[in-house]
Amino acid sequence: MGLDVESIRKDFPILSTTSHGKPLVYLDSAATSQKPVQVINAVSEYYRNYNANIHRGIYEISVKATEEYERSKELAAKFINAGSYRSIVYNRNTTEAINTVAIAWGEANIGKGDHILITQMEHHSNIVPWQLLAKRRGAILDYAPLDKENRFIDMEGLKELLERGPKMVSFTHVSNVLGTINDAKEITALAHKAGARVLVDGAQAVPHMKVDVREIDCDFYAFSSHKMLGPAGTGVLYGKEELLEEMPPFLGGGEMIRSVGFDGATWNDIPWKFEAGTQNTESAIGLAAAMEYLGRIGMDEVRRHEEVLTRYALERLQDTSGVETYGPEGNDLKRKGGVIAFNVKGAHPHDVASIFDREGIAIRAGHHCAMPLVTKMLNEPAVARASFYIYTSEGEIDRMVQAVSRVKEVLHLNR
Ligand code: PMP
Repeated sequence: MGLDVESIRKDFPILSTTSHGKPLVYLDSAATSQKPVQVINAVSEYYRNYNANIHRGIYEISVKATEEYERSKELAAKFINAGSYRSIVYNRNTTEAINTVAIAWGEANIGKGDHILITQMEHHSNIVPWQLLAKRRGAILDYAPLDKENRFIDMEGLKELLERGPKMVSFTHVSNVLGTINDAKEITALAHKAGARVLVDGAQAVPHMKVDVREIDCDFYAFSSHKMLGPAGTGVLYGKEELLEEMPPFLGGGEMIRSVGFDGATWNDIPWKFEAGTQNTESAIGLAAAMEYLGRIGMDEVRRHEEVLTRYALERLQDTSGVETYGPEGNDLKRKGGVIAFNVKGAHPHDVASIFDREGIAIRAGHHCAMPLVTKMLNEPAVARASFYIYTSEGEIDRMVQAVSRVKEVLHLNR
């Protein structure tokens, strides 16, 4: 049947605005998604009716704010089938979630000469925390290679590196540049067999497809509210309860303690042990509305829509002379999310993005916080990237393809 994109679009006020006098075409959802009125209203209602600090007040609006904040985490636990609410830590974003593990778990478990294994397709937020940890502890950071076409992780290469017995394997579920959907369950099973703990960076997965962390069986899983219709300011860290229990705290301060004396402190129960200081309550409440919104559509429907759209966009772009695309294609589209990195021959991606902008089309150009992948593997200084979501229509893809012709016209690339 497919999504009723036109009716979904009506929920997103920004999609009926214009940019440079033309209807806005927003193709940068991998960076951050737009927000439906349901989310905007939830945040506004909090500010209007029950704005208060959580966990602290015994007065009515503080109790209500606390209940709504905790309800958001219960929804998050269900959204990824975490099993227990105690496994869900709220923080600022995926980056902070990964840093929590790299610092709190890493300091307690990684020593001199230990191996940590990531891949060549990671976002900086799943590279730099491990580089810092490796440096502090004298550990060795290995990178699982990509296949010859730079589309997938080279599984044989990964297996070879697993023979070094890494203590941690951390990889992205979906690449924010290639769109590649990694087989998280298979990689987790291989890593566990090799004796490693596993963290999955789900920033580009949870917004776009059904994710079941217990089926994957990873030890940690991280994602961000702002990429899944929710407000910025909330990240989600899932961790297996026993691991969160034994991990030392990440940040110290209010809320994460049970008691504090002049000579030391004891820790709150999980997940609060990892939630130091005043939390971003309004963002958590908005995220709850976002998860409910996505839940009503159904994540399988979300995925189906993006798969159809990606196939259409890729075919149209590949039919356009002078356009090069990156990541899985053809028979492999089942393993590609709604992200298309591309270049127009003879045009710098920043020029492409600027000309698109004049056409009212928002895309991203650059290294997309994946410099090793873009500059070393794809061997490009930068790439343009269009990314899709539930509100992206076929008509918008057509406008994107027309904009490529405009790029060639403006830059006199007569192909
Ligand atoms: N991992 C991936 C794959 C991403 O695409 C992003 C966001 N671009 C991040 C991590 C970081 O997310 P955040 O900026 O919300 O921490």
